[in-house]
Amino acid sequence: MRAPIVVVLAGLIVGADEPGPKTTAARPEIVAASDWGSKPQPIPDSRKQTPKFVTIHHAGVVWTARVAPEVFVRNMQSWGQRDKGWPDLPYHFLIAPDGRIFEGRPLDYEPESNTKYPLAGNVGVEMMGSFESQRPDPRQIASCVKLTAWLCDEYRIDPATVRGHKDAASGQTTCPGKDFDRYLKDGRFVSWVRATLEGESPAIDPGPPLPGGPTEVIPSTAPSS
Ligand SMILES: [Zn+2]
Repeated sequence: MRAPIVVVLAGLIVGADEPGPKTTAARPEIVAASDWGSKPQPIPDSRKQTPKFVTIHHAGVVWTARVAPEVFVRNMQSWGQRDKGWPDLPYHFLIAPDGRIFEGRPLDYEPESNTKYPLAGNVGVEMMGSFESQRPDPRQIASCVKLTAWLCDEYRIDPATVRGHKDAASGQTTCPGKDFDRYLKDGRFVSWVRATLEGESPAIDPGPPLPGGPTEVIPSTAPSS
């Protein structure tokens, strides 16, 4: 009988427009779509959504730093439009190895996917690179934590429900790659998000490589040649 009481109290706290136990997380700095040269096409109203879940992805392509992140984002948008018929980026946010966050598709439209799962309500957060064969940069993890905390705060999403793509689309993908999925599975990611929501700046310690997992950290600067 305790659960209904908790729900009622939570409702009162949300309704009370004053400081209190409510958690807050600041919106991280985000490179606006207009600033990276986005050329979105109109998305039909039938794809409108209310954000309810955060789903974490990796690009699934090894990052070699041969192109700048903003070029990668522009290329993904034009590839999707040309080859997939996607009017805008499949993801709502894309995070570069140096931690920069790029704005993708507007949040009030559902994402796109090559896999089958209910897309409505998903906020797609993608990190550049392949975490099956390279390790994320700690700055990339830190930005993913800050962004997720802000999304949880803004849209009243329970951090415990944040999931990887493979958990949403079971058996169809290894995304977001084993070297990131570990943080989702061992509870570290959600603990970093919760600490951020409490106003802390948690230290992001990626820890040692997984047994049999990737050992190289993703490169973040272009080669000097
Ligand atoms: Zn994915």
